[in-house]
Amino acid sequence: MKTSAFYGKRFKLGVLGGGQLGRMLQQPAISLDIDVHFLDPAPDAPCSTLSTGFVVGDFNDYQTVMDFGKDKDMITIEIENVNVKALEDLEKQGVAVCPSPKHLHIIKDKGLQKQFYANNNIPSSNFTLIESKAALSPTNLPVVQKLRTGGYDGKGVQVLMNEHDLAQAFDGPCVLEALVDIEKELSVIVARNKSGEVAVYPTVELVFNPEANLVDFLLSPASITQEQENSAKELAMKVVEAMDFVGILAVEMFLDKTGNVLVNEVAPRTHNSGHQTIEANYTSQFEQHLRAILNLPLGDPSLRCPSAMINLLGEKGHAGPVVYEGMNEVLAMPKVYPHLYGKTSTKPFRKMGHVTVLGESIDEVKRNAKSLQSSIRVISE
Ligand code: ADP
Repeated sequence: MKTSAFYGKRFKLGVLGGGQLGRMLQQPAISLDIDVHFLDPAPDAPCSTLSTGFVVGDFNDYQTVMDFGKDKDMITIEIENVNVKALEDLEKQGVAVCPSPKHLHIIKDKGLQKQFYANNNIPSSNFTLIESKAALSPTNLPVVQKLRTGGYDGKGVQVLMNEHDLAQAFDGPCVLEALVDIEKELSVIVARNKSGEVAVYPTVELVFNPEANLVDFLLSPASITQEQENSAKELAMKVVEAMDFVGILAVEMFLDKTGNVLVNEVAPRTHNSGHQTIEANYTSQFEQHLRAILNLPLGDPSLRCPSAMINLLGEKGHAGPVVYEGMNEVLAMPKVYPHLYGKTSTKPFRKMGHVTVLGESIDEVKRNAKSLQSSIRVISE
């Protein structure tokens, strides 16, 4: 496609999913003059209040995706759990689809992903595939068991340490992974366009909420050695090139206690580990996604300054209409940028928004992120 094809032409981009990632994609789409239309099953999804177009429907249903896609110039995703067959058929009918359905097919299945890493000499933990719980035995332990499909945010992943844990094992097609002795969890976002141009974001460090298995907060840049930073970036580039992937790929990695960097898994879309790029990098991951899928020149991914991104998760014990307690205190802090996702009701650990904190140094952003975390609470009425 010639890049001039859509400037000023009411280019219609269809997005499968209408959650917070779509909402944040809308902002640079306005600046680049792209009409974005969202498909989501929830009538009150975060994108439902955006004016360009919102269709209520199931992105896993073949006919719904076909109907949604047929009059669009291009279809992209903000969630990978979609009807890939419909995307393949839309492509055959001449609708551009990016990322490619062939990549979604691999990435949706943690087993195929692991095989891809093994076949392409991409360092990742050792693994075996099993069809059901019956194939598990004490000799496999300790092990990380992951459902091949359908899991997200740590649901569908569990560590089986001893024979007693075997009773809780998932029963279905699973990946069994060697337990990595993790020093830090890292993420590198990488973008690639159809012309083969690649832009790699600096590595970020993720700090998980152990109870929710969700990212509590993130620090950018990661506090790792230059050598580890180079390995992480090289690895992300290797994955994107080996897949011949076009779009944004979030490469989640482990730094193990011996200093090795391993790929955990990838997401073929904008990612929670890149939200801080909206304020802290020259080009946000959302604008970069648009540039990559439309084969435009990629933007500069480098840092404007150090930052922290704090997820606003629904407080434990609260479910119902949402209240953001402490927002005025947060807004009164300098160099702090809240993003509320427009979800009307909260539940424990639901991702309701995030706040980015900028600073001169990692120590400063860490300090301010801690004080911010104790100022704000997402509760119900
Ligand atoms: P999801 O796709 O649901 O986010 P992940 O595969 O990223 O699941 O795993 C969730 C978390 O489980 C990781 O962030 C990490 O903390 C832990 N984990 C996953 N795989 C391993 C492993 N091989 N060794 C140790 N911990 C792991």
